[in-house]
Amino acid sequence: MMDESEERYLPIEEDKKTGKPIWVDVRELRVRYRIPVSGVKRFFEALGEGKLLATKCKSCGERYFPPQAYCPNCRSSEMEWIELNSYGRLLTYTVVKVKPESYQKYPDYILGVARLDDGFNVLAWVLCDDFKRLRRGMRVKIDIRKRDGEDYISYFIVPVED
Ligand SMILES: [Zn+2]
Repeated sequence: MMDESEERYLPIEEDKKTGKPIWVDVRELRVRYRIPVSGVKRFFEALGEGKLLATKCKSCGERYFPPQAYCPNCRSSEMEWIELNSYGRLLTYTVVKVKPESYQKYPDYILGVARLDDGFNVLAWVLCDDFKRLRRGMRVKIDIRKRDGEDYISYFIVPVED
């Protein structure tokens, strides 16, 4: 049992579920991801050109989105780039109200999976003013643009007229 003077300066609090002591880092953490992408750099260049690319294994024919520099199926490094069809249907979606720390600054957002007409599944934010308009199976397209408040280009799922 901690006495009150300890409680004031130890970065430890009691877990509400288990009652066990939990260490709490009191510093704010700014995370910057640095992931080597030399094998799939073309994917990002193509985003800048408004295109969404996948890779296809020249050896076994398996197709990958997000693109892979090496084929997980046959381990070949002989991959070719293919452009995705932008249109498809909304497979599923969810409204994210409890956000991870790095997305706290955003209002609630919608994550969805689109099944594109050429068979690829694409996980992305769904841009839609009213999530009640969304229906599984509805026609959607992939839209490439900057996310509000960010300088980076990404891809999004947007509903379109059937
Ligand atoms: Zn392969």
